[in-house]
Amino acid sequence: MKIIDAHLHFATDAYFDEIAKAAEHENSADHLLEQYRMRGMVHGIVMGNLPVEELEPAYPPFLSYCIGLDSQVFDMAKLPQKLHLIEQHLRSERCVGIKLYPGYASFYLYDDRLTPIYELAARYKKPVAVHTGLTATDKALLKYSHPLVMDEAATKFREVQFVMCHFGEPWFTDAAAVIEKNPNVAADLSGLLERKIPDFAAFCEKKHFYIERLKGWLEYLDLYDRFMFGTDWPLANLGDYIAFTKEIIPEEHWQEVFYENAVRIYHLKPESMLAVR
Ligand SMILES: [Zn+2]
Repeated sequence: MKIIDAHLHFATDAYFDEIAKAAEHENSADHLLEQYRMRGMVHGIVMGNLPVEELEPAYPPFLSYCIGLDSQVFDMAKLPQKLHLIEQHLRSERCVGIKLYPGYASFYLYDDRLTPIYELAARYKKPVAVHTGLTATDKALLKYSHPLVMDEAATKFREVQFVMCHFGEPWFTDAAAVIEKNPNVAADLSGLLERKIPDFAAFCEKKHFYIERLKGWLEYLDLYDRFMFGTDWPLANLGDYIAFTKEIIPEEHWQEVFYENAVRIYHLKPESMLAVR
């Protein structure tokens, strides 16, 4: 089965090196490519966090990216002056969407200041991926990253394809309601694991409450054409992540969730995929 990782991060720094090690990986393009080849992974989508001024980010050729408006490098107050740079990214074939980080940044998705971003996304037909759910730092504010916040933006901007990253974890009930109501909302299943899991069966046993609810809401929705596999590399072990996703998605929908949905939602080109050996 061909697999696309619809949500990863790519940066060469000491912090990423450490979290990759904890997942029993090595934070390098070569290791990632080797892992991709080993596991039938043919493409990945980087959730960007470089300054928007970097118009040609040096990601390996088997990865495309969403231009990320990360609060550490992007000041929302400066959006009007930076909009032309975001547009330049969207003109590039390698840029397949926009990534927003509410929670880490203090804005609500339905904030009128974001209207120009949604207009660009609609014009270039590229999705807006949004961090939803828990955050990696305790300085972030959950009121901004709650999945319910997406409802108003998705309703107002029907022509924009939204991607709810992490399926609003752990607010699966609210996330499911927003997805059920809004046909222009999809989700990725990244960020649900971290590190290497030493004993997968024991992990599933220990986390059965969480896994049952996650599976239950996916079943309730029965909209497997709207969910995408994603690993949040280098956060988790890729083998574990594939096994975990197989655990929560019925086998008859693997093809969609692991591959087809990402191709359709992010408009990925066949020539950007690695050949399967
Ligand atoms: Zn992420």
